[in-house]
Amino acid sequence: MKQIIWGYKKLKEIEMNRIKKLARFTQKIETEFLIGKKPMELIQSLKERLVNVVVDIRFWSVFPLYFNPISLRILLTKNNIEYVRFQALGNPSMLRNQAGNNHELAKELYQNYINSYQKAKDQFLELYKKIRFKKIYCLICYCDTLDPRNCHRFWLREALINAKRINLGFEGNFVLERDIQPIFQEVN
Ligand SMILES: [Zn+2]
Repeated sequence: MKQIIWGYKKLKEIEMNRIKKLARFTQKIETEFLIGKKPMELIQSLKERLVNVVVDIRFWSVFPLYFNPISLRILLTKNNIEYVRFQALGNPSMLRNQAGNNHELAKELYQNYINSYQKAKDQFLELYKKIRFKKIYCLICYCDTLDPRNCHRFWLREALINAKRINLGFEGNFVLERDIQPIFQEVN
């Protein structure tokens, strides 16, 4: 009997660890947009959220000049924030044009693209492996939207979390959002 209880406790512990790992991973990925922001506003927003690494996922990144990759890297480095660019994880204009105003289709096309186009697949895997505990990552692009239905920052974030979920052995299409986190902190 004791052994059965012990075994059950062990299973529960493994399950809780798995959920905690997914929650922590989810908390590692912030998003931010550039349109309408001045450099110091961007820095302030990143610092407030304790961001360590900015992940630039713009396909096209020329304007404004102070946010082009070279200037942005200099600005971030000065503020002790790492800059990495994954251009192939941008949303190609061809796909955006194909989807028009249909946001659901746009998301589907984008997620298919990062699952099938080799360069995007490689960069996705590289980014996924880069996301580790103790650092906060922030996906950035231009779109001044906070609506997850409208921008590939959120679709990429979802794809990363889904990859983690699958790696941890979860089934279905379950995405753990960060709002749930306080429950797990109590368990610690
Ligand atoms: Zn965007």
